[in-house]
This record gives sequence, C-alpha cells and structure tokens, in this order.
Amino acid sequence: MYGEVVSAATQTVNEFRATVVSMIDDAVRNEVACAEYGTILPPGLIDPARRWQQHIAAAGLAGIDWAPEHHGLGLSPDHSAVWYTECALAGVAPYANFQGYILTAGALRAHGTDAQRHRHLPGILDASTIWCQLFSEPDAGSDLSSLATRAEPDGDGWRITGQKIWTSTAQVSDMGILLVRTAPDTRGARGISFMLIDMHQPGVEIRPIMQMTGDAEFCEVFLDGAVVEADGLVGDLNTGWTVATSVLADERAAVGAASVRLRRRLNRIADDTTGLVARGRALETLMARTGVNPGLGPLMKLGITEFETALSRELLARHGAEAMVHTDDTEAFLYAPGMRVAGGSSEVQRDLVGERLLGLPRAPRN
Ligand SMILES: Cc1cc2nc3c(=O)[nH]c(=O)nc-3n(C[C@H](O)[C@H](O)[C@H](O)COP(=O)(O)OP(=O)(O)OC[C@H]3O[C@@H](n4cnc5c(N)ncnc54)[C@H](O)[C@@H]3O)c2cc1C
Repeated sequence: MYGEVVSAATQTVNEFRATVVSMIDDAVRNEVACAEYGTILPPGLIDPARRWQQHIAAAGLAGIDWAPEHHGLGLSPDHSAVWYTECALAGVAPYANFQGYILTAGALRAHGTDAQRHRHLPGILDASTIWCQLFSEPDAGSDLSSLATRAEPDGDGWRITGQKIWTSTAQVSDMGILLVRTAPDTRGARGISFMLIDMHQPGVEIRPIMQMTGDAEFCEVFLDGAVVEADGLVGDLNTGWTVATSVLADERAAVGAASVRLRRRLNRIADDTTGLVARGRALETLMARTGVNPGLGPLMKLGITEFETALSRELLARHGAEAMVHTDDTEAFLYAPGMRVAGGSSEVQRDLVGERLLGLPRAPRN
C-alpha cells in the first residue's frame, strides 16, 4: 500500500511525511513496530527487529536515499531525515541492524563492487542478514590502525587469525565487516584490508561479555583459520583504511543524529533549571541545520553522547531513593557511558574536532 506511493520519487517531503506518519501509526497500533533501542540491537530484540525491518521493506520505505541501482528508493536526504525524525518521535527503531543498515551498506555503496552490492544489500534492507563490526582488538581501540589480526592468502581467498573485542551483536550475526592486516611487515594504516566474513563457520568463536546493564550485547570474537572468500575483499588489497575511515565517519554521524530522539526525553524535564533543556534544544537545532553529515560526525557524536550522559543522570536523580533499585530510567543511565566510548571515545572526538573542524595543530600521538 505504502510502496506504490513512496516509489514515486516525485513525492514532496511533506507528502512523504504524511505517508511515513500513517505507516508508523498503523505499525505501532498493530504492534509490528520494534521499540527504539539506540545503535546496538539487544540480542533479545532480534526477532521483533527483524519483523519490523521486513515490514519497512515490504512497505517500500527501506533505503530511502540509497540510489535505485543500490536497491534504494532514490529519494533525497531530506526524505530520509523525515523517516528518522518520525521514527524518533514515535519511539520506534528506524532500522533493525545499525551495523548492517548504516555501516556495511555505507561501505558497500561507497566502495563495493556491483556484485557485492547485489549480493548483500537486499539482505540488509529486509534484515534477512544481520551484520556486526569486527574492528576493535584488545590492543587496538582508539589506536585502531595498530590492529594485528592477519589475513593470509589461501586459494582464491584468505585465512584469518586473530582476536576482536567489543563486537556488538556478534552472537546473533550472520556476517561481519572485518579489518585485517594483509601486509605482514607493515604497521599503522598501511597494509590493512577491509573484508566481509561469514560468522557461521568453523574458526569463528564468539564469547559474549556481560555489561553493567545486565545484558551481554557485545562479544569477544576469536578467529582461528576462518575463511574469507575471494569476493569478500572491499576496495583494493592493503587500502582498507580508506573504507574503514568512511565507515567510522558514518558511525559517528549516525550516533550524533540521535539528537532527534532527545525531544521526547527532554519534554519530561520541561521545568528544568539546570540548562539541560536549552542544551538539548541547541543540539536538536544544530542537527536540523546540518542533517546527517559525516564531516561533522565527531562534533555531533561528542555533543549527543555527553549530553545523554548528563540527561540520564538527571532523569535518574528525579526518582530519588527509588533510583537505588530499578526504574524506567535505570537502563538508559547504565547504558550512557558506553556510548561515550563506542565509535571512538569522547577524548578522541575532541581531538578530531580540534584538528579537523577547528584547524588546530595535531595532538601528540604515541
Ligand atoms: C557499547 C560499545 C559498543 C561497541 N561496539 C563495537 C563494535 O561493534 N565493533 C567494534 O569493533 N568495536 C566496538 N566497540 C569498541 C570501541 O570502538 C572502543 O571501545 C573504542 O574505540 C575505545 O577503544 P578501547 O576500548 O580500546 O579504549 P582505549 O583506546 O584503550 O582508550 C582508553 C582510554 O584512553 C583514552 N584515550 C585513548 N587515546 C587517547 C588520545 N589520543 N587522547 C586522549 N585520550 C585517549 C580514551 O578516551 C579512553 O578513555 C564498542 C564499545 C562500546 C563501549
């Protein structure tokens, strides 16, 4: 029903908004919509999130601003912003799988081959394939380019050996985007490649890590001779850092774009005298003016995640003694510090803002 309306690329933004609002209303009423969960899908929500993404795809509302040749609708970023805003206002997730829909699809749309796009993008649009992001390692987090997991040629493909950590949703993922060292004698960003790996194979061992929220949303992943097929290399061999950089920019921009979600939470403290409401509205306005802009990702990510931490502390404090046990706001309070680290810590974002946006001298590096 919605598909035929939406597929008309001539739809104005306001017409599109009406379509979106009506689709979301119906979905909430019929309990098809999956509740908003931020950027990391809790494993317990995998089934409702998948059903919701299938519903979005069937309604013709997936891949709104992706090019038609990338299986998208070919509409404008403004149309896409309408979807994110209306989902945020309704408290429903805009997609099922951040690592698939934003990170993997972003990498494939910008750097993949046509064959890779045709193979993987449809499964991302309807969440039949769930993806995870295998970047961080025990000795490579902020300093990601020091990663040591290696890929050695094996037939037409590669064999992978090493360890990844903090891999969100690994335990429910079918595929992963993987950074590996393919030139053994290199250090730093040179000699890294970007690959797509099947998570369901011998040689991939996943161990969930318990968080202070009580959930285990991220994992350690041990790779011991796991295989990446020949068509699993994205971009050229040894130039994966370029792909990784664009994925990280998309990640920060998407986390920063969560400002629209703030409106609902801010309305709960309209009587606030601490300046939080003013700060929140300023972030919202900045977001409305800049849109989802990877170049401003560090600024928006820093602003939103630091603000979420302060807001969740304030909301929890309002529960008084009840905050000692579990309240509606406990989860958000326990979750907020992690978002200041995921996708690059606040300290690292401050460096990026200084160097890339303000043109300050480079911070000292080890
Ligand atoms: C909730 C959550 C989900 C995540 N999901 C994923 C995922 O799906 N896939 C994935 O690959 N990774 C994921 N991560 C990992 C995340 O990207 C890293 O935790 C992050 O990059 C920081 O790396 P680190 O933990 O190794 O800390 P470190 O890099 O060791 O940093 C430790 C401390 O030192 C500070 N520091 C480091 N360098 C500097 C510097 N140059 N200047 C000033 N201070 C500095 C940091 O700010 C931090 O406070 C996730 C993390 C979290 C919290």
